Amino acid sequence: MKKLVVGNWKMHGSRASNAELINGLKAADLGVTAPRASVAVCPPFVFLADVAAALAGSGIGVGAQDVSVHAQGAYTGEIAGPMLRDVGAAYAIVGHSERRSYQAESDQLVADKAKAALAHGLIPIVCVGETLAEREAGQTEAVVARQMQAVIDTLGADLARIVVAYEPVWAIGTGKTASPEQAQAVHAFLRGCLKAARAEAAAVPLLYGGSVKPDNAAQLFAQPDIDGGLIGGAALKAADFAAIARAA
Ligand code: PEP
Repeated sequence: MKKLVVGNWKMHGSRASNAELINGLKAADLGVTAPRASVAVCPPFVFLADVAAALAGSGIGVGAQDVSVHAQGAYTGEIAGPMLRDVGAAYAIVGHSERRSYQAESDQLVADKAKAALAHGLIPIVCVGETLAEREAGQTEAVVARQMQAVIDTLGADLARIVVAYEPVWAIGTGKTASPEQAQAVHAFLRGCLKAARAEAAAVPLLYGGSVKPDNAAQLFAQPDIDGGLIGGAALKAADFAAIARAA
């Protein structure tokens, strides 16, 4: 399967620092990875249009970090799927653990966001993952299965059109990466859940996220059920992100 590497810039950047990062990514010529890996970055909403314009023709796609469940209307502060498409986004991350935690996003809301993304021509990157306490309590599979089930029930036949990112919460921004074996085990489990729900969903790309760096990316991406990565901190450094994309 073709790999996918997505950078999540989170709430970082300015026009000046973005221009520097984009110049670095363009200089790294990530378009050459195109036959083996697709690459995209997800800047904060306010920079999406600028970043999409700056990356046009580079072979690097653009995505949003969230999307509203609504198509338009009186929802102050929300950003709708059609707006994201209008400024050049192809992807929308939904259910990132930071939003599940800080914005109290429920499994159902995340599933509804995935549905809204698809309805407006965006590919949702649905994040799932357990906390350290949940892992230590032996609940990893139960947690990711519950998070996936809402998406499975909500999307029906459209399940095959999504991307899933397994991001153990204890590995995000902590420098602690799941070992390739730990990540592979959960990916294989998720693949099974998707396949059991819909045969064609067995081909859903499964990204790993959580402290992916240039020195651990190749080992992670070599696992049979790891189809790429969702990259946080390392996506803010052009050289690191380029090295990770090349590892894919
Ligand atoms: C993320 O936020 O999606 C992420 C994986 O972050 P980091 O790579 O910094 O752990």
